[in-house]
Amino acid sequence: MTASLFDWQNASWQSQLAHVIDNLDTLCKVAGLDKQALQEQYVLPKSFGLRVPHAFAVKVRGVDDPILRQILPTHEEQVVAPDFVLDPLGEAHKNPVRGMLHKYKSRVLLTLTGACAVHCRYCFRQHFDYGANLPKSSDQQAIGDYLKAHRDVDEVVLSGGDPLSLSNRRLGDWLDFFADTNLKTVRLHTRLPVVLPARIDQELLALFAKFPKKLVVVIHTNHSQELDDANAAAFLVLKQAGAVLLNQAVLLRGINDTVAAQVSLSHRLFDMGVLPYYLHLLDKVAGAAHFEVPKNEAVGLYWRLLEELSGYLVPKLVQEQAGHPHKTPVDLYQRSLVLG
Ligand SMILES: *Cc1c(COP(=O)(O)O)cnc(C)c1O
Repeated sequence: MTASLFDWQNASWQSQLAHVIDNLDTLCKVAGLDKQALQEQYVLPKSFGLRVPHAFAVKVRGVDDPILRQILPTHEEQVVAPDFVLDPLGEAHKNPVRGMLHKYKSRVLLTLTGACAVHCRYCFRQHFDYGANLPKSSDQQAIGDYLKAHRDVDEVVLSGGDPLSLSNRRLGDWLDFFADTNLKTVRLHTRLPVVLPARIDQELLALFAKFPKKLVVVIHTNHSQELDDANAAAFLVLKQAGAVLLNQAVLLRGINDTVAAQVSLSHRLFDMGVLPYYLHLLDKVAGAAHFEVPKNEAVGLYWRLLEELSGYLVPKLVQEQAGHPHKTPVDLYQRSLVLG
């Protein structure tokens, strides 16, 4: 009976990536959910459809679940909210070199791939036109020239998509290139160590271990239920290969918008050697209005976290504001809080 199900536990990460779940039937089988109970909420999206690795889907614990909510396309996405737009960060046409965003003084961001193992329903790049924005190895010359001309830039942030969905060969090619620049640090923003921990394979660890510059890996976890022993093992070997591990989360309605959820996430991360870095207010991307936690509520929650957690376990509460030269710290003393 289970013979038809993909034996993900014995599969390579490449095979797991090739077999990601992309339909409701399989999701329900793998996650042990009653399809009847989900049918009413589920809507087949025109683009950016259901996509989740088996290793992540098995962590869903029922139809009312913080992981399921992050991955299940629902009719709520079709609600049109006026200030929720296709390009909330104004990233289109901001590229000095193909695939490169230079918005903040000391660091540039490269979207190396549009591919990701998981489609998070609140993803702010879900409508992003990667087609014209992916750098190729042949763009390395131009990127190198740009870095030489901008000596303020000492860090490159690899984003996407997910930079770890690249093969080790292609990632290694980029790391070799960065090793030859004046950059001090390479930072990867990735959800793969969380949703597909098998991605952290020996080849990747060897690439990281021999990389001569600082390496920072910012994982994306929103809820402690996302993390188990396999993740802990992946984080440990990443640290052993020299990476500094941080987490960033998005504050999401019905997923992690309680003090208990945030406290539990910070403790779980710390147990696994990861420090909380950012807690983002939702980027107002079209289709994600139902995830929004109003700012005054976020601020109220945040004051409680300051009470409950050691300082180093409190992530910075920030929001992205198009056109600003940095992430903007949320004002904890805003009038709207006082006025309710
Ligand atoms: C978020 C972001 C960075 C990194 O910002 P940090 O505050 O250093 O984490 C860099 N470039 C762009 C375009 C970004 O959006």
